[in-house]
Amino acid sequence: MRILLVEDDFQLGESLEAALRMEQYAVDWLRSGEPVRAALSSTPYDLLILDLGLPGTPGLQVLRQLRADKHRLPVLVLTARSTVADKVDGLDSGADDFLTKPFDISELFARVRALLRRRGDHKATLLLAVGISLDPVDRQVIFEGESVDLTAREFALLEILLRNAGRYVSRARLEEGIYSWGEEVESNTVEVYVSRLRKRFGSSCIETMRGVGYRVPA
Ligand code: CA
Repeated sequence: MRILLVEDDFQLGESLEAALRMEQYAVDWLRSGEPVRAALSSTPYDLLILDLGLPGTPGLQVLRQLRADKHRLPVLVLTARSTVADKVDGLDSGADDFLTKPFDISELFARVRALLRRRGDHKATLLLAVGISLDPVDRQVIFEGESVDLTAREFALLEILLRNAGRYVSRARLEEGIYSWGEEVESNTVEVYVSRLRKRFGSSCIETMRGVGYRVPA
């Protein structure tokens, strides 16, 4: 699951980005609303977390614009104010949920999970293959009846492979899925994570075809 975070407050943005990554979401962080449109058209996101008080284009305008563009992704609005009028404005503009600052991070996680689940589409369903069960919303992996702890990148890689079970996924596509913007991609990263996953789940859980990519057998 990939989240776009728009927050101009550096401290808050930085801590939200880190916390969401700890929860194994891929996160891209923007400090203003202007680049949101381009980001949404170039990258498939599952959720937008949008601060309303932004420099330049206000958050509500960003929200109205993306709904006018027919983007249907769930939007969680962060706001410093919480009057009824503000909420009505936000809902009218297409927000799915609100969080008033300051908030507890566990509440943010709960709202995020609820929004991702509410979508009710294929992206929220449990992924099952080669004896592994991965819950993309609760961020849980079960193997042979036991819960398995994975790092954020191991989880992201496994999620992409399970989503495409039976089909080969290119290395480039996997790299795109496990790195956020601006992170330097190391040349053998995918191999490193594939080999860690094979250690966890057995060597036959991921197949390699040279020059094509990797797959989890269906
Ligand atoms: Ca702000």
